[in-house]
Amino acid sequence: MPHEFTCPKCNTTLVAPFLVACPACGFTLGHLLGQPSPEGEAKQLKHNELLTSGSISLYGGELNASFDYYGFLSLPDLVRYTVSYGHHATVPSPRGHHHNPVVVAYVPEIIGSGVSRYSTDYNPCSGLCIISPGSERWGHPFPVLEQWVQQQFPGVQGTCAVCGANTPFGHTLCHEHYANLTGDWRKLL
Ligand SMILES: [Zn+2]
Ligand SMILES: [Zn+2]
Repeated sequence: MPHEFTCPKCNTTLVAPFLVACPACGFTLGHLLGQPSPEGEAKQLKHNELLTSGSISLYGGELNASFDYYGFLSLPDLVRYTVSYGHHATVPSPRGHHHNPVVVAYVPEIIGSGVSRYSTDYNPCSGLCIISPGSERWGHPFPVLEQWVQQQFPGVQGTCAVCGANTPFGHTLCHEHYANLTGDWRKLL
């Protein structure tokens, strides 16, 4: 069975992977791939900090993460993979007035590093989160620490994109299908 997902903009059911544009509404991923809106660009800067300044700041929060060069260069594939196969949830907006949709997918490679208030070490990240993926104005991708995923989505489950077996949230393949693909997530694109 081919894996199905919904267009982030119009919710039409589509067969994975997302290629160039949604056949129903024409939605593309350009705003998530380095041509962000002014609002998205401001948020993207803090997730590119490792590339621009060689360090990562907390910006007053508990956790923050930045792409490394590999993650930055892989962004087009990471975004298409996450839109096509990622797990959906919501997070409260910064002021808590409403919930923003997010989609999360781990890949078996390190795409960035993160820092937390409780540790000065840089920890590797292999998960991508896209917030408000259907919004050309607010949507942006960022790398996530496992600690962040567990804080935000405690107890939430996902499913394997190939067989539908339960998996931890964000883990798009079960052990068996992960092994069948020899860990190469790009084969699904
Ligand atoms: Zn669409
Ligand atoms: Zn499976």
